[in-house]
Amino acid sequence: MTIGIQTAAYLFASILFILSLGGLSSQESAKRGVFYGIIGMAIAILATVLGEGVSGQVYIIAAIAIASVIGLMLARKVEMTAMPQLVAILHSFVGLAAVLVGFGSYLDPKTHTLEGAEHIIHLTEVYIGIFIGAITFTGSIIAWGKLEGKVRSKALLYPGRHAVNIVLIIICVVLGVLFAQQHGTSGLPHLLIMTAIASFIGVMLVMAIGGGDMPVVVSMLNSYSGWAASAAGFMLGNDLLIVTGALVGSSGAILSIHMCKAMNRSFFSVILGGFGNAPAAKGEAKAMEGEVTALNHEEVAVLLKEAKSVVIVPGYGMAVAKAQYPIYEMVQVLRKEGKNVRFAIHPVAGRLPGHMNVLLAEASVPYDIVLEMDEINDDMPDTDVVMVIGANDVVNPSAQDDPASSIYGMPVIEVWKAEKVIIMKRSMSAGYSGEDNPLFYKQNSEMLYGDAKDSVIKILDYLRG
Ligand code: NDP
Repeated sequence: MTIGIQTAAYLFASILFILSLGGLSSQESAKRGVFYGIIGMAIAILATVLGEGVSGQVYIIAAIAIASVIGLMLARKVEMTAMPQLVAILHSFVGLAAVLVGFGSYLDPKTHTLEGAEHIIHLTEVYIGIFIGAITFTGSIIAWGKLEGKVRSKALLYPGRHAVNIVLIIICVVLGVLFAQQHGTSGLPHLLIMTAIASFIGVMLVMAIGGGDMPVVVSMLNSYSGWAASAAGFMLGNDLLIVTGALVGSSGAILSIHMCKAMNRSFFSVILGGFGNAPAAKGEAKAMEGEVTALNHEEVAVLLKEAKSVVIVPGYGMAVAKAQYPIYEMVQVLRKEGKNVRFAIHPVAGRLPGHMNVLLAEASVPYDIVLEMDEINDDMPDTDVVMVIGANDVVNPSAQDDPASSIYGMPVIEVWKAEKVIIMKRSMSAGYSGEDNPLFYKQNSEMLYGDAKDSVIKILDYLRG
């Protein structure tokens, strides 16, 4: 393939990637967006493999085939609830790839003939690419561990950690300056030491972030992986990789900013790591006051029959129980009886952005009864019954009134303002952030213990019977 055809193919693929991102911005056009992405990626791979100066195509195609089979098997097996872990581990691959490309490019004898400014620019690309790649690699592995429950989700904070991070970054900068003055491969020790330090920074950056704030970390690592890919593009002299990396990097950063706004967190504290207990974890956590009372399925059905307006707040537990289908059946029964039934969706409910919206759409719940937190919070005082189905952190009043709570400051759905709140979960255990929930102890709250799907099916029987 000539350079001209390859450039045209790269340009076409870049346009498809931009159209893909545009498509992914709404549920209706998301499928089209994914389709554009697949076509763009297929063109990009073909144009690269068949490009000038590339040899050993047989090995490349064999590697792609094996990797595709593994990817397909994993994607088919993975549960919707485990998607964030998958995304996190995939980010780690991008980081690792950037590190390997960096070392490969540094050791490549062809690059040793570069002189003057070209030489310095090349070394800077290698250094920055490996630095970002190593942080992304180890940070993503820790994020995977936290989401998978293999690493403690609570923030690991130690005194002076910011000072330690700053000292480590200064060491990396000094090493970088020394590295840029080396010739041949004599800068390898500098590069190896910096890689070890950057890997350590990646670990500490994500370890310092508490469970409740993980959504922002996942989108931030998505952004880092984009910049790592872009840096790899510079090292390889591949324009498409530079463009694609920049698209991923900037869209990940925009998503992180949106999520920070939704969770009332500072974007800069996030990208610098360790805002786990920020902005204001002060003093002792409040003791739980009041008594926990529970209802049975029949009593809940009676409450629903008497109610005129009902709001359903789904959370991670709905995804685990796969309760969205019977929930929609229940909604249809209630709406037939003339009740105003709506869903209230918190921006970080579940384990990935838009998790609840996807599940409800899967069960054919119409979009017009699915409202965002900000759209429905004002209606809470006029609501007769709120059903909290497998949600916990997103309805925790401590976010508003307990400065010692790690989720203090995060906007929540104010379900306690409704006439009656029914909380459906299996036990009294805490949510993902590990914080207790005073909602369960409020006078107008009632627990309904059990698996969300089983409970909804039983309530449905009473409603129909
Ligand atoms: P939470 O994790 O706070 O709570 C979910 C609740 O569901 C648990 O308390 C659990 O209680 C219950 N549950 C689990 N399985 C079932 C079941 N089969 N039937 C009924 N209940 C069940 O979820 P939320 O959605 O309220 O909040 C999301 C949290 O996750 C936030 O802290 C958010 O920051 C974080 N997060 C969000 C991400 C995102 O991108 N949206 C990514 C990563 C983290 P029990 O065990 O008693 O049943």
